[in-house]
Amino acid sequence: MKRLRIYMRDKFRCQYCGEKKGVVELTLDHILPRSRGGDNSPVNIVTACIKCNNRKSNRTPEEARMPLLTSQSALRVKLERVVLCHYAEARAEWRKYLFMDVHDDRDVMEKVHAEHKGRA
Ligand SMILES: [Zn+2]
Repeated sequence: MKRLRIYMRDKFRCQYCGEKKGVVELTLDHILPRSRGGDNSPVNIVTACIKCNNRKSNRTPEEARMPLLTSQSALRVKLERVVLCHYAEARAEWRKYLFMDVHDDRDVMEKVHAEHKGRA
């Protein structure tokens, strides 16, 4: 669930291009790449869309000339707090980003369609 918490902290926005995306289009990017000694702490990880993550690759934001939209202090917010705030402020909005819900809906729709076909 750490992945989801980071997404929540970053409000489901790519921290490089600023676009808001669904969970399936988002990735986690290590600000300082793992291969260069970056760690797995939340301060070193931001939400990035697939496109920006590929573009940034194994570089720092400075090297890639892709400045972060988030400030370092925003990254230091405790993830536990982020989750609570997110639930409190935007419960309805949060639900639609829960991809498990989306899959559930799809499953239900498929079952309904299958049933209808069976009857016809
Ligand atoms: Zn992006």
